[in-house]
Amino acid sequence: MREKLIFDLSRTGRKGYSLSGSSVPELPLDSILPARFQRSVPAELPEVTESEVVRHFVRLSNLNYHVDKNMYPLGSCTMKYNPKINDYTSDLSGFSALHPLQPAETTQGALQLMYELSEMLREIAGMAAVTLQPAAGAHGELTGILLIKKYHESRGSKRHKLLVVDSAHGTNPASAALAGYQIVSVKGNADGRTDLDDLRQKLDGDVAALMLTNPNTIGLFEKEIQTISKMVHDNGSLLYMDGANMNALLGITRPGDMGFDVVHYNLHKTFAAPHGGGGPGSGPVGVSEKLLPYLPVPIIEKEETEEGTSYKLSYDRPESIGRMMNFYGNFSVLVRAYTYIRMLGAEGVRRVSENAIINANYLLSLLLKSYDLPFPKPVMHEFCLSGDRQKKAHGVRTLDIAKRLLDYGFHAPTIYFPLIVSEALMIEPTETESKETLDVFAEALLKIAEEAENSPELVLSAPVTTPVKRLDEAQASRQLNTCCAL
Ligand SMILES: *Cc1c(COP(=O)(O)O)cnc(C)c1O
Repeated sequence: MREKLIFDLSRTGRKGYSLSGSSVPELPLDSILPARFQRSVPAELPEVTESEVVRHFVRLSNLNYHVDKNMYPLGSCTMKYNPKINDYTSDLSGFSALHPLQPAETTQGALQLMYELSEMLREIAGMAAVTLQPAAGAHGELTGILLIKKYHESRGSKRHKLLVVDSAHGTNPASAALAGYQIVSVKGNADGRTDLDDLRQKLDGDVAALMLTNPNTIGLFEKEIQTISKMVHDNGSLLYMDGANMNALLGITRPGDMGFDVVHYNLHKTFAAPHGGGGPGSGPVGVSEKLLPYLPVPIIEKEETEEGTSYKLSYDRPESIGRMMNFYGNFSVLVRAYTYIRMLGAEGVRRVSENAIINANYLLSLLLKSYDLPFPKPVMHEFCLSGDRQKKAHGVRTLDIAKRLLDYGFHAPTIYFPLIVSEALMIEPTETESKETLDVFAEALLKIAEEAENSPELVLSAPVTTPVKRLDEAQASRQLNTCCAL
């Protein structure tokens, strides 16, 4: 059944609210809003009862797919289950009703939370300090790259190039370009890792930094990271880590110990804030000793005096790159990450990664029967299959397999990324899925491989059970001109 628009449900005079009288005197409208901004006709709003509103949105949410409904295997995006307690804490009025311009004496709790969160993140990644300002992973990348730029400039050195590996997330070259750098792509080897010979060739005196993702987007750990770190530093360049994939590292190993100078975190992935649909994110940045003076302002300082501990915002940072965000970052996401880490404790944080890795390897072992794995196992928190076998033998593409998964009640994995894997199906189960869920998901993918062989038309016409059936992809891609599964 089609869901009507809420405007079509509207009947004059119906009401879904009941407001108490105002406790403050009403001001004449003209004194608040200039007449030219005032409406001449009343806004056309739907008039519906509370139960109609609730039912309408519950029906819509049933048509939608979300992580509260079933597994969301979107590789590189870490769509894990987000504990509801995070929403409870971020909604506490002591947090949610703060005004960002309140004096620090009245916001000590919020400042303490931010200070402690940055300390916990600092420890998790083994860095010297962390800024919480950036509003997303890509924004963290830009922040990190501007820090690197400032570092070189302050030493009187002009370097124009940033090396980015070819399996990198598209935001890496985009952020580097936004900061004014020329991008040089470094190849991967047959093992799916950075090709050291290619890196050696491209590392010259004009290279400001190398951007790496570890584990990379195919889910493989850079085993030669210490050699890479030495090569980069011997060249006077810095090492940047895209830490959006921290889900594989927590409590096991630390970017700081591997020699990274900058790392960004994706709190909305690894540290359990709902995301997708462009909701508020947070991309804190950790730095090594060398980059401390350039961190964005304000930074939060802890002061111990005879009267006790207090926190303040410090702007006295003459070498800072400045502000990266209005106020102090996406505070409600910070509260969620803080709650999540405190709830898990150090041991729990490590278990997250252990289980994420076990889940990925277990699921992979079930799927190898029918799908090709272009690079050798074992993987970390995610893996990237190729749909080449299905395409060559039966003309069924990865796009079709992804659409058929919707019929089986699952969200599709990330597809056609990273670009170095043909017909890529990139799957990240996360630690929050049970063995039973993984089994059902694997069964669906194996069944689809069977269908591709025996009745390809089923896969080619999918999805058939969703509210919106197969779209005209050719037209859609003409309109969009780009395709991104992330
Ligand atoms: C998600 C992701 C990013 C970008 O993060 P946003 O918060 O979407 O800007 C960067 N790198 C990798 C590897 C990612 O998975």
